[in-house]
Amino acid sequence: MRLKETYTVSMFRIPGSFRSLGVLAPVLGLCAFVLTPQAVHAWGNEGHRMINRLAVTTLPADVPEFLRAPAAVDEIEYLGPEPDRWRSKAEPELSAAQAPEHFIDLELADALGPLPHKRFDFEAKVFAAGERPETIGLQPWQTDEVWERLKAAMRQYREMKAAGQDTKDVEAAIIFYAGWLGHYVGDGSQPLHVTVKYNGWVGPNPNGYTTEHHIHYEFESPFVAANIHLADVQARMTPLKAIDGDMFDAYVAYLRHTATFVEKVYQLDKVGGFVGAGTPESRDFTAARLADGASMLRDMIYSAWLDSAQPVPDPYAGK
Ligand SMILES: [Zn+2]
Ligand SMILES: [Zn+2]
Repeated sequence: MRLKETYTVSMFRIPGSFRSLGVLAPVLGLCAFVLTPQAVHAWGNEGHRMINRLAVTTLPADVPEFLRAPAAVDEIEYLGPEPDRWRSKAEPELSAAQAPEHFIDLELADALGPLPHKRFDFEAKVFAAGERPETIGLQPWQTDEVWERLKAAMRQYREMKAAGQDTKDVEAAIIFYAGWLGHYVGDGSQPLHVTVKYNGWVGPNPNGYTTEHHIHYEFESPFVAANIHLADVQARMTPLKAIDGDMFDAYVAYLRHTATFVEKVYQLDKVGGFVGAGTPESRDFTAARLADGASMLRDMIYSAWLDSAQPVPDPYAGK
C-alpha cells in the first residue's frame, strides 16, 4: 500500500504499531516485509542534482563535447531526481513497478545466494523462495540495464557520426540516459538504500541505535539540503577511472562498499549528526557519500563511452 503514496515526509514514517514487529521479527523475515517498501528517496532533490551535475562536469575531454555543454549539464542535473517524479498516485502502475528499483536490501538478497546478472533470473529466485521482488529491491538490475541503454545509444552515435549523419537526435537520447542513470547510481551511494536497516535499526541493538523511523529522511533530505554544498562534494571526488571488466559486478561491488557505512550512519545519528547543522564529522561523511555517487556515475558514463567503441560480438561466431 505504501508503495503508492506520494512523495511526502509522512511516507518515511512507519506506523507505531509496526515498531514492535520491527524489533522482534528476525532480520530476514517479517520486519523486512513490513518495512521495506517505503525506503525510496535517496538524497532528496538537492543531493541527486549535485551528483548528476558533478559527474558530467568532471568528464574528461575525450568524451564528446555535446555531453559536457552547458545545456546538457543543466538537463542531466534536472534528471537527477527524475525517477522520484514517478511516484504519484496518478500513475499507479508505474509507481508500483519502479519503486523497488531505488534500493536493495542486500541482507535479504544475499540470503538467496549469488546475485544473478539478469533481472528475471533474480526475480525467479525470489518468487521460488516465496518472497516478492518489491520487498527486496531491484537496484543493481535497473542500474545496469540503464547503463547498457546509455552504451547502446553511444554506439549508435559513433555509427551515425562515422556515416556523416546529423547526430542531434541521438545526442538527446544519450543525455536522457545519462541523467536517468545518475539517479540510481546516486541512490547506490546512500547506505540506507542497501540494507534492511533502512529506516531504524533492526535486530540486536547493543549500542542503542535509533529504532525510530526518521533517520532515513533526515539524513538524506533536509540535512543535505541545509548543509552540503557542491564544492564540499567535488573536493571529495576520486580521480577518473575507467571501469574494467563486467559492469554488473563492478556495480554490485560499489553497493557493497556503500553497505560498509550503514552502522556509521547510525553512530552519527546517535550524537545528533543529522539535526540542524550536525557535526563536522557528519558533514564530512555525508559529502563523501555524495562524492562517491558522483565519482561512480562519472566513471560509468566514461566507461560506457569507451565500451561503445567495441565491436558487437558476432552472433554466428563459431557456428
Ligand atoms: Zn532514500
Ligand atoms: Zn531513488
